[in-house]
Amino acid sequence: MDLSILVPVFNEEENLPELLERLLKTGRSLNKKFEIIFIDDGSKDNSVKIIKEAIKKNPELKLIRFNRNYGQHNALFAGFAESQGEVAVTIDADLQNPPEEIPKLLNKMDEGFEVVGGYRQNRQDSIFRKIPTFLVAKMASKFVKVQLKDYGCMLRAYRKELVKEMVAGGEAATYIPALANSLASSVAEVAVEHHSRTKGKSKYSLLRLLHLNFDLMTGFSLLPIQIIGLAGVFIAFAGLGFSAFLLVMRLIKGADWAVGGVFTLFGILFFFVGLEILAIGLIGEYVGRVYQEVRNRPRYRIREVLSSQNIK
Ligand code: UDP
Ligand code: MG
Repeated sequence: MDLSILVPVFNEEENLPELLERLLKTGRSLNKKFEIIFIDDGSKDNSVKIIKEAIKKNPELKLIRFNRNYGQHNALFAGFAESQGEVAVTIDADLQNPPEEIPKLLNKMDEGFEVVGGYRQNRQDSIFRKIPTFLVAKMASKFVKVQLKDYGCMLRAYRKELVKEMVAGGEAATYIPALANSLASSVAEVAVEHHSRTKGKSKYSLLRLLHLNFDLMTGFSLLPIQIIGLAGVFIAFAGLGFSAFLLVMRLIKGADWAVGGVFTLFGILFFFVGLEILAIGLIGEYVGRVYQEVRNRPRYRIREVLSSQNIK
């Protein structure tokens, strides 16, 4: 098997017919032995039915079904684990990244890179989606120490050895492009087309995006907690100095002088309390993640795996 194309699907019935047609056409034009693996991430619409029908007609297709929604990155992990190809390509099901761009990634891959990511040219998303992405790209570049233009683009190609490593890692919460880049020995980027979503809705609310960014931040660095720790030390010293200053002033100017500062003190106190809560929250974030990993719960549960061999 030369190529595995992995497609996470969550309620994409409107996009699937066109996607299937264009993916198959692209795959067949490559002169390579390929498979297309759909991972149904607990869709409630007709997605599964559409894919099942297509499997009956096209032996290149496969379907992994989750018992519920586990999120795009877990779906991709399931796809990685099932994939046979020398190269695995991930692509969204919503046609925002055209399947016709896959050969571009493969050509770059032939130059010997372990990961080839797409970056979105004239990205067609709202400004509210672009700003978080911009920040994420900056942060991810810092944390992962691989400078990339676009960490959010999911049209990417990975070499088999790397895919195996990632699957073997078995981490519970992780962001695949960052994980791959942190493990890869060579990474390249190529420009790919990007269109606006014409059918169906985006599956990422602001809350889910935030969650994903937390995965990214805490998953690849301890910097956030280290900054808080340093700030804590600095603030403690400042507080000590300030108290000493108040004491000295009280001794020199008498008790009356300090009364005027009562409300200032309140203000300062609230500042400290706020910082403390922030610190506790951050520690909680890490502790929670340690707990998740230690629990060693499987990332997902597969309901069934369908291919042309076992579909009825
Ligand atoms: N997706 C998924 N599970 C989820 C959310 C999304 O499998 O919980 C899939 C979705 O069907 C699509 C891809 O991940 O194929 C990207 O989702 P979407 O287009 O909604 O993300 P956006 O383009 O808004 O970032
Ligand atoms: Mg999309």
